[in-house]
Amino acid sequence: MSSETTTDLRQANLSRALQAVQIAGSLTRSELTKQLGISRNTAAQIVSDLVEFGLLVESAASPSGRRGRPTTELRLGQQLPGVVVAEVTPEEVRVATVLLGRRVEQLQRVDLADRSAREALIWIADQARIRLQELGAASQGVAVSIYGLVDADGMVRNAPNIGWHDIEVTGFLRDALPQGTPIFTANDASMSALHEARYGAGRGADSMLYLYSADGVGGGLVVHGELVQGRRGYAGEIGHMLINPGGALCRCGRRGCWETEVDQRALRRRGRAPASLGDQAAAEYVLTAAQAGSETAQHAVAETAIWFGEGLGSLLNILDPDVVVLGGLFRRLWEMASEQVCAVATARSLDAPGDLANHVACSDQANSSLLGAAEHLMGPLLARPGMIRGQTIPS
Ligand SMILES: [Zn+2]
Repeated sequence: MSSETTTDLRQANLSRALQAVQIAGSLTRSELTKQLGISRNTAAQIVSDLVEFGLLVESAASPSGRRGRPTTELRLGQQLPGVVVAEVTPEEVRVATVLLGRRVEQLQRVDLADRSAREALIWIADQARIRLQELGAASQGVAVSIYGLVDADGMVRNAPNIGWHDIEVTGFLRDALPQGTPIFTANDASMSALHEARYGAGRGADSMLYLYSADGVGGGLVVHGELVQGRRGYAGEIGHMLINPGGALCRCGRRGCWETEVDQRALRRRGRAPASLGDQAAAEYVLTAAQAGSETAQHAVAETAIWFGEGLGSLLNILDPDVVVLGGLFRRLWEMASEQVCAVATARSLDAPGDLANHVACSDQANSSLLGAAEHLMGPLLARPGMIRGQTIPS
């Protein structure tokens, strides 16, 4: 075997071992050996490398109560690589440091209201500068996740729900941050979809459709572990799918988009929530009132569930995914009215699975968009763990 092939094989084993531990949280050495299908000697060498790189620590496992050889447990190390991640939603801007193993640290937020795009980006850049310094050589870059259309160059083309148009997010941060910092900007729901497919309710599925409703509707399709992005990165804007030609005017300027019938504002409109509440609190008010028996609120939930089912049925016709993962208000509607959603979706679909409910899962992930964005920048490290901090793997 050539030395190049040997090095490639070693890199691949290091990558698989690091991925296995970061997904599981902790593994014994024998579990790792079994999972990777490698010899004990190879496993010993891989573990030794990853410990030397500071990516893993090995400690005595908690006693299993059985007699036998003492075993050790592998966990992620203390000085982990990390990504600074920001998320811009219609309500707020959030920044966190995400370490390998999906550890979200130092989450901070500010209101987006009364902040221009430039002011929001200045805050993100200030936060990023401090956090990049804290991470030092372990930094893998800065990722920004935004509620709107983002092109492959990190330009926000159109984000009607946050009022941003033609804003160069990646370009702005490139000028504001130390030279050479990897910077990545992407659509919020796409990043959530990626995270759900790899670590959440869509894990193990060959194809997964992620649907999220809050202030607007977003989504993403992941096939064979990869996000379907479209030619310019705009795929997944299912919130602006036409569903009711005679319906309400959408913030995108068109009439009858799906999100005008199934987001928080749609539910508040139907449920007559108090005007003093914000959209999120108003939607919560209607859901709670429906559970408490209010007829108006129950009617509002039922009608919103019908429009949810209409859109879901159309999406099933077009995409036929193995699993549909629901987040935000969609998850709440599903929990309260899944029979109604299923009935409408099945009627709309040409051939919905008879057990449609078994192909729907609810997201149990917090911060999925932040984690998905961080995952994107962790990719090169996870693929070649030996490259961190300039370490090279001897062949
Ligand atoms: Zn629209």
